[in-house]
Amino acid sequence: MTRRWWHSRRSSAPSDMDYPGTQFWVASPNAVDRPRAVTSIIIHTTQGPATDESASVNKFISTSASIHYIVNRAGTITQMVRDDQAAFHTGGRIQDPHNLNSIGIEHVNPAGQTPPPVLYANSAALVTWLCYRHKIPKIHQMMAGSPGIKDHQTVSPNDKPCPGSDWDWDHYMGMVQQNVSRAVP
Ligand SMILES: [Zn+2]
Repeated sequence: MTRRWWHSRRSSAPSDMDYPGTQFWVASPNAVDRPRAVTSIIIHTTQGPATDESASVNKFISTSASIHYIVNRAGTITQMVRDDQAAFHTGGRIQDPHNLNSIGIEHVNPAGQTPPPVLYANSAALVTWLCYRHKIPKIHQMMAGSPGIKDHQTVSPNDKPCPGSDWDWDHYMGMVQQNVSRAVP
């Protein structure tokens, strides 16, 4: 694997991470304490030209945006904000209620491509674990104000469609509801 500039900032210490299937921790500076419980998970895809997580990691270090987890196309998971803090992955500011009550997951998938099976599987295993930990209902929630697993566009309709039509929700939710276990990346 190519060594990237941000690799020197990575940790693989389990104490730096929440989900046990996380491979790496790289801190984003864009995180605030949560005034409320986690009730939702928000699903994103990159849709740009990137084929690995480097562009996302760079964005979440060098802009005001952030995310809790990034799943790359090999199924490797990098965490950038701890679960007990809010990240800025939807709306106009980090204090948006949909940021304060959610965990965001970014997936590396260029527009027009099918997400690889290991990406779906390892993301579904992550979401299964998060739903158990935070008592989030394992449903694809289409109502912005209700708990569950949501599209980015459901909570932020003015943003670009995300995760977009390349994301197979039926396939994904089937794995989440079957408590799929993690594949080794
Ligand atoms: Zn998004």
